[in-house]
Amino acid sequence: MQSSNKKYDYVIVGAGFFGAVFANEMKKKGKKCLVLDKRHHIGGNCYTRKVHDINVHVYGPHIFHTSNQKIWEYVNKLVEFRQFVYSPLAKYGDEYYSLPFNMWTFNQLWGVKTPFEAKKKIAETIVPCDNPKNLEEFALSILGTDVYEKLICHYTEKHWQRHPRDLPAFLIKRLPFRLTYDANYYNDKYCGIPIGGYTAIFEKLLENIEVRLNVDFLAHRAYYESIGTKIVFTGKLDELFGYKYGDLDYRSLSFKHDIYDYENHQGVVAINHTSKDVPYTRTIEHKYFEGVKTEKTVVTTETPVKHTRYTTPYYPVNNKENNEKFKKYLTEAKQLDNYIFGGRLADYKYYDMHQVIGSALSKAKKENK
Ligand code: FAD
Repeated sequence: MQSSNKKYDYVIVGAGFFGAVFANEMKKKGKKCLVLDKRHHIGGNCYTRKVHDINVHVYGPHIFHTSNQKIWEYVNKLVEFRQFVYSPLAKYGDEYYSLPFNMWTFNQLWGVKTPFEAKKKIAETIVPCDNPKNLEEFALSILGTDVYEKLICHYTEKHWQRHPRDLPAFLIKRLPFRLTYDANYYNDKYCGIPIGGYTAIFEKLLENIEVRLNVDFLAHRAYYESIGTKIVFTGKLDELFGYKYGDLDYRSLSFKHDIYDYENHQGVVAINHTSKDVPYTRTIEHKYFEGVKTEKTVVTTETPVKHTRYTTPYYPVNNKENNEKFKKYLTEAKQLDNYIFGGRLADYKYYDMHQVIGSALSKAKKENK
């Protein structure tokens, strides 16, 4: 990089995984970084807070999973991980089902015991479709009406606040569907939870780097641009450009955290509530992430809420209209020579943690060339 008389080589907007990994890589190269976040804490959406000796995943359950050995080694150098198998349950009315869709689920639905019986039962309920154009058609053609009605339709509609027929099929393709008694949500080679919570990772990444919290970069943009040679931006592009092409759509959530004066509330880390008449989508009992023994327990209820400019954007809604709008913002972004963009918000992509880390490492590497 050209030397300049600015105070920082990089002003990094966002102390989530993208910003923190990027800052750490630049620190190793002797660069001076300033990290800003408008929240009161580091860690972005992965932030955890200790409550009664339980690390609470404040913005929803976060399970670290990857098949990329380098990324797995990278995070394991920062903190120790506990091996973890994510096997949530679904609750439909008073009925409980194993997730993701596997032989246990089919056994609970129909009493079938073998893959042959399950296949036969699924075949009886599927609605064939050669070229499924949306999530509903896809789910009905692969899993059939029983699974769709009890486990997919209402949950998906609550989660995305759109009918599954107005959603792309790829959203459900992320979910495993197996004819084995294997209730592990992820197919990845490595899966774990950081012992001590995610915040400990960010404390390590941001060690000896200046961090300013409760600062909205956009409210002081000219000042921060004047002190940083480059700006690393991990916020929303529509906001950065004053919403000139319209708002990008997101899904937002509200989280209600309850503390109970007893040990065990739901007996499992997560329940997906799949009935129409229950407004929330998930309940999370945090102690099971790290398997801690405590007298109390903390349970979070996650409820989808409509996204506005003033709510927190959690999931990009990558339909055709939004993707086209995003392209216009991206064209503008490319004209800002001194800016680097990355992360879930700036790339407007449904990234998992390992993907964000990978992307930050590769963008940092390019800077070092
Ligand atoms: P973020 O974590 O969102 O960080 C961006 C930061 O930028 C935020 O802290 C924000 O406050 C700050 N910022 C934005 N604009 C400004 C501004 N103008 N000024 C100052 N600061 C600003 N991934 C998995 O791998 N496994 C999971 O199980 C998993 N579960 C998830 C569950 C939920 C409910 C959600 C929402 C996500 C989940 N993810 C999961 C995805 C994971 O959270 C993301 O991949 C990761 O947090 C993205 O990191 P990031 O740095 O891109 O963004």
